[in-house]
Amino acid sequence: MRDPEAELRALEGDGLRRLLRRIESPQGTRVDLADQDSCLNFSSNDYLGLATNEGLKAAYQSHIGRLGGGSGASRLVCGTMAAHLDLEEKIANLKQTEAALTFSSGFAAATGTLPALCRKGDVLILDKLCHASLIDGARLSGATMRIFPHNDLDRLESHLEWAVGEVGRDGRIVVVTESVFSMDGDLAPLAEIATLKERHGALLLVDEAHAFGVLGPQGRGLAAALGIESLVDLHMGTFSKAVGLSGGYLCSRRATVDLLINRARSFIYSTAPAPALAATISDALDLVCDSRGETLRAELLERRTTFSPDTTSAIIPVIIGENEAALAASAKLLKKGFLVPAIRYPTVPRGSARLRVTLSAAHRTDDILSLKSALAECRETH
Ligand SMILES: *Cc1c(COP(=O)(O)O)cnc(C)c1O
Repeated sequence: MRDPEAELRALEGDGLRRLLRRIESPQGTRVDLADQDSCLNFSSNDYLGLATNEGLKAAYQSHIGRLGGGSGASRLVCGTMAAHLDLEEKIANLKQTEAALTFSSGFAAATGTLPALCRKGDVLILDKLCHASLIDGARLSGATMRIFPHNDLDRLESHLEWAVGEVGRDGRIVVVTESVFSMDGDLAPLAEIATLKERHGALLLVDEAHAFGVLGPQGRGLAAALGIESLVDLHMGTFSKAVGLSGGYLCSRRATVDLLINRARSFIYSTAPAPALAATISDALDLVCDSRGETLRAELLERRTTFSPDTTSAIIPVIIGENEAALAASAKLLKKGFLVPAIRYPTVPRGSARLRVTLSAAHRTDDILSLKSALAECRETH
């Protein structure tokens, strides 16, 4: 029988072993590691710095005082509290959909939604760079999967044409993409994708994990920025990135959400998120969508411009290639006091290991400038 030690050695040999790093401080643009204090953190998805926002911390504490700790049971048993329904109404209003469902994480939203809506005989068409949660959700569904090369509209169209012939009258075809891609920071051509899916009678799921809170009017995401929200059938996202907390959402038509309540296993068979968390997410959404959010988004844009005039998002990949080289570059940066993770297969394709820099509105201009010079030095000595 295979023993785990041998498997770990194999990972180690390929430069693919992962280790946990203990952070001693709260999340923030500076973090204390076990053996190195006050590292500049360029690895978090807390794009607006809300994870440690003073107002939200106070709100969270008061909600715990009012509502207690846990939620007691799954949503369908006795775990649905007013705070969950209020949050769902709020996110549905923001996304301008009839209804919304929240999950304990974005991962749970993806792995719950796709198998609830698709089954054997249906077709799921995914961008090659879709997040692991979308791939796992697609696999779990039992539907036929087709992958198109990243952002390749011609191949998406040929998959759609094929799918139309493949599924029966009752069959579903769902196109799945992200709006801001998590490891590349580039954008999907959402308007063109929406046109194609309309032409072929397919549904469109857009995962706005890295765009919600960051792009578009009120931070409502890329679909809102492009004015095509109404063409997106399934709006997915997470409260764990720009919103600074945790939890996932899926916004859609009332009947679709009701179907998820009946079929999404990650929703049905999991204890409801803590009510105080749901209430704090509602407070965070108010902040993200009003003038405070606008100010933070303007600051984030300034940080991006300081880093480089041609960033497309707050995610900036520095492609290195080989695993060991990416790890070495990350270790070198850490020695200089910069926490920038090396991202390797299977998170990104083989041969494209990279440093993934993420910027936050909470960074100071000086932080960005010192990272830039550290990266430049790193390249010279590479
Ligand atoms: C982070 C992420 C998720 C998962 O969200 P969590 O709330 O962290 O579970 C899903 N999709 C994408 C694109 C992500 O980046």
